[in-house]
Amino acid sequence: MKLLEGKPIAEKIKEEIKQRVSSFANKPVLASIMVGENAGAASYVKSQGRAADNLGITYQLHRLAPDISEAELVKFVQKLNSDKSVNGIIIQMPLPAQIDYKKISQHIAPEKDIEGMHPANMGKIAFGTLTSLSANGERSRTIGQAKILPCTPAAVMELLNATGVDLYGKEVVVVGHSEIVGKPLALLLLDKFATVTVCHIGTSKAGKLEEHVRKAEVLIVAVGKARLIKGEWVKEGAIVIDVGINRVADDIVGDVEFEEAAKRAAFITPVPGGVGPLTVTMLMRNLVEAAKLQQ
Ligand code: NDP
Repeated sequence: MKLLEGKPIAEKIKEEIKQRVSSFANKPVLASIMVGENAGAASYVKSQGRAADNLGITYQLHRLAPDISEAELVKFVQKLNSDKSVNGIIIQMPLPAQIDYKKISQHIAPEKDIEGMHPANMGKIAFGTLTSLSANGERSRTIGQAKILPCTPAAVMELLNATGVDLYGKEVVVVGHSEIVGKPLALLLLDKFATVTVCHIGTSKAGKLEEHVRKAEVLIVAVGKARLIKGEWVKEGAIVIDVGINRVADDIVGDVEFEEAAKRAAFITPVPGGVGPLTVTMLMRNLVEAAKLQQ
């Protein structure tokens, strides 16, 4: 079994980002919006700020009042959209009850949407990324549509890439179909010609989750339920990517029973230390990509 850690992969990508940043005349600028005070958001902001700083990216933090209205927040986002010095915009979660994240995030200009959550960026994923099938059935690399990918699915794809395993024709099972992880990830995997099965609450309620997981050559779990996936369900030699982050007593665990799964898997991500360290790096890579697209 090989432990698939995010940090070494992130370090390599950071070097590439640094090189790209050094080729810009001006430092790229990431504008981060935080509404009110929240311990979780404050900690994200701190680590994002540090990551940006290390890469030569300017991190601009905008703290807004907790009672700001949706209309006022939209106006603020629009101001950043039209500010040519700003290359990317991120809205920190959680937001106060009066603000609907989905509504607000759609007001970020797609070319500044470095979380890849705008419907225009999501839509582009359906039109393919980099690999496509030529008319005679052979794979060829073409310049595709999607440049800015949602961060967590992009992190998962980097981890899979690091295994060196070709996804072509592989049985891939994704558990979880959220807009930010499962759904876009399924499209990215299809683009690699994997045979993708997406499981969700309906699969579990129908009592079929175990059956699907058992056939997975590649298993990706993004649910948010501690140890939902039993280790003994994992196929011998499978690749297991555990996206879940669950706090259990004083511990942080994933969605997969790690010890038992690790006995069977060829590759498995630890929690913490797998997907997590790569996500913020993907955000910075998107920023640089966005800055390039805006040039
Ligand atoms: P969501 O709650 O948005 O989605 C969870 C998904 O799991 C839904 O599709 C849900 O289906 C499905 N689900 C719930 N219960 C079951 C079940 N018993 N069996 C099968 N499917 C089920 O979560 P996110 O996608 O935002 O995040 C998932 C996990 O990944 C969380 O633990 C989160 O903290 C973590 N995460 C980690 C990141 C990282 O950087 N490492 C980044 C982003 C997320 P339905 O909606 O139909 O109920």
